Amino acid sequence: MVDDPSPDLLSSLSNTSHETEFYTPFPQGYQKGKTKFVVVLGTVMSGLGKGIFSSSLAKILKDKGLRVAPIKMEGYLNIDSGTLNPFRHGEVFVLDDGMETDMDLGTYERMLDENLSRKNFTTSGQIFTRILDRERMGQYLGRDVQMIPHVTGEVKHSLRELAMASNADVVFVEVGGTVGDHENGYFIEAIRELAYEEGEHSVCVVALTYIIEPQSLGEQKSKAAQLGLKQVMQAGLQPQIIGCRCPTPVNDKVREKISMFSNVAMRRVFSMHDVESIYMVPEMLHDAGLDREVLTLLNLHDRVNQKSEDQARRKWQGFVDRMITPREKSVTIAVTGKYASLRDAYASIDKALEHCGVHAACRVNIQWLDTTEITARNVADVLRSCHGVIVPGGFGSRGAEGKIECVRFVRENHIPFLGICLGFQMAVIEYARNVCGLQGANSTEFDPSCPHPVIDILPEQKKIEGLGGNMRLGGKDVILREGSGISRLYNNAAKIRLRFRHRYEVEPRYIARLEEHGLIFGGHAPNQPIMQMLELPTDIHPYFFGTQAHPCLTSRPLSPDAMFMGLITAALRRAAPDELFTPAHAAGT
Ligand code: GLN
Repeated sequence: MVDDPSPDLLSSLSNTSHETEFYTPFPQGYQKGKTKFVVVLGTVMSGLGKGIFSSSLAKILKDKGLRVAPIKMEGYLNIDSGTLNPFRHGEVFVLDDGMETDMDLGTYERMLDENLSRKNFTTSGQIFTRILDRERMGQYLGRDVQMIPHVTGEVKHSLRELAMASNADVVFVEVGGTVGDHENGYFIEAIRELAYEEGEHSVCVVALTYIIEPQSLGEQKSKAAQLGLKQVMQAGLQPQIIGCRCPTPVNDKVREKISMFSNVAMRRVFSMHDVESIYMVPEMLHDAGLDREVLTLLNLHDRVNQKSEDQARRKWQGFVDRMITPREKSVTIAVTGKYASLRDAYASIDKALEHCGVHAACRVNIQWLDTTEITARNVADVLRSCHGVIVPGGFGSRGAEGKIECVRFVRENHIPFLGICLGFQMAVIEYARNVCGLQGANSTEFDPSCPHPVIDILPEQKKIEGLGGNMRLGGKDVILREGSGISRLYNNAAKIRLRFRHRYEVEPRYIARLEEHGLIFGGHAPNQPIMQMLELPTDIHPYFFGTQAHPCLTSRPLSPDAMFMGLITAALRRAAPDELFTPAHAAGT
């Protein structure tokens, strides 16, 4: 154990002139032992579901009345995930404070049912930027800036800052990548130091590993897992909990081997086999006794509130029960987009539809569509059999005309429609062209010199050059028009808050013309003419809504988003053949 840092070392990070072995970046007022840390590392391969594991464990502890705060640490040098291609990395998840993060943050928000902030996400890019900025300001006072203690110190500092800012009982640290990767090596070293400095019962290291089950052998093999765990130990970390990922339950023989080679008692080596849905993982961890072991390791049993746990678990179990109950009804929702081949690129849409399916007691089949091949000629064949269409967000002109054709088809054929961000813009362009007669209407994103730029770059963004960091980002209030369909969907609310990520918007000088022709802008930004919601009246179309926001980002299992819920409800009506919509039908005549 290191001694408690002296008060002047506690005072500030820039206090580096002290000639000491132990660079101790404790934020001012930090109390050791108040907040505990659970660190989740991956071995053998990426894609083990560290985020799902970590968020599920955090959820169970939160249900017990403990305050939890997750943080994802990414090894890449990008400052945030904003410039990452969703086709390679999965969707960019936008937090309320505008931080663009990895999709795992979405998993945490949905599991924990709470909004996170930039404090819950960091990258090597952020860590090094802070250090280099400080170096340029001369704050290292003549010292050479080193990986240890300065870079690892910066990591520990951000973890402790999060602990203080969130007042958490437990901070969950998920280290991106796999142990042994060069780019996250210093995070692992920082965790080793943290565990040492915080002392016993303060840091619980969980190593997730993978048990291979080759078809040709028909049995589970543990060697890769052993080697992976060895790397964790070579880095100076002793795991206290091991989670063995595997398609099928991990047998005792394998668990014994893992236990033996990693000095972790059998009762702390868990089978983390595949289950039907990620929402079943919290209960699975609880049934296996993982939460109890973590509470013991971190000396937390006396912070548990049993009543809170019973209530929260009952609620969650209700959702899971409904999810696994076989559902007779089903709807097919087409989601158009150029990343159609990759579900991860639209993870939140996928999840929002999943939440709604559970609440509406129907199966939601998603038909992913690449719109690059869609034309006026074939659109009917492609869309006729679906009960609803989502045109999601996106960037660039590829597939844009196909999306516009989809919007035209669903508008004319009364197929329930939800346009999200770019999809909202496509709906405006389609309406301008085909209803308002504005030939050549387009977005300046695709055609800067088009005759009718109904979608144009935001005035505030025009001034900012470059790709990264010039979007309207994060949670924003939306003022809903009284009596509009959108306000009805959101329980007659006058104001809601949704998340945004866009550079373009409806050009204000076209608003009146679009509205004169029947398009309703039922929601806009406070104090600015930024249109954020559009709809068609219900006597014209059963469900035609668009939003400049991304409501899928704030859809939660127990409280699905209203626009998505509305879409599924309308799709269910369409799926019931005797209730097909006609305008007269809707008008009640
Ligand atoms: N490309 C559009 C814009 O920047 C839409 C963005 C999005 O769909 N997220 O405004």
